[in-house]
Amino acid sequence: MNATSVAAPTADTGSARSGPTIGVLALQGDVREHVAALERCGARPVLVRRESELGAVDALVLPGGESTAISKLLEAFELLEPLRARLRDGMPAFGSCAGMILLASEVLDTRPDAQHLSGIDMTVRRNAFGRQVDSFETDLPFAGVTDGPVRAVFIRAPWVERVGEGVDVLATVPHGPAAGRIVAVRQGKVLATSFHPEVTGDLRVHRMFVDLVRAA
Ligand code: GLN
Repeated sequence: MNATSVAAPTADTGSARSGPTIGVLALQGDVREHVAALERCGARPVLVRRESELGAVDALVLPGGESTAISKLLEAFELLEPLRARLRDGMPAFGSCAGMILLASEVLDTRPDAQHLSGIDMTVRRNAFGRQVDSFETDLPFAGVTDGPVRAVFIRAPWVERVGEGVDVLATVPHGPAAGRIVAVRQGKVLATSFHPEVTGDLRVHRMFVDLVRAA
């Protein structure tokens, strides 16, 4: 598999070697795209499917995909409690779309048996944008990204309906029927976006996360 070979630690990638080791949760979803973006930011991405692999990373990316499927696989791979524990211990994390849903402390419109990780004190509504705009792209002003808006791709995306104290809102939908809806947040070292920065080639959100990991 491509993602595996891309992510395999190698001895001859100088810049990658010096970067932080960032796991990409590789149970389901757009793992390969996150691996590529992290590499281009100078981090060392590794795939995480086992508890031992989770234990070896400085931080973790939870990819876009299908949150209920990833939830089931987290249980099947016995990663749910270890991942909750690492988040409680302060491991930096970044979730895009399904990853955002998994990082929430409360999820609306999901399956009753779906698990979440409570990495960020927020209520997220799954598939929130509804049929007519269930997939769309827009230019999004993003707090902390100074050189122009971020191109944001939303695919059956969630939005954030409530944030707790200590959660920074980084982006809201600028116009249209969902104007004002929260689509990017950060609490401490945990970052989440409703959209998929990993699919656009715009590395600024990943760079923000890698800088946050470096500072941690
Ligand atoms: N709708 C998906 C879910 O519920 C998320 C979509 C995505 O990650 N692009 O998990």
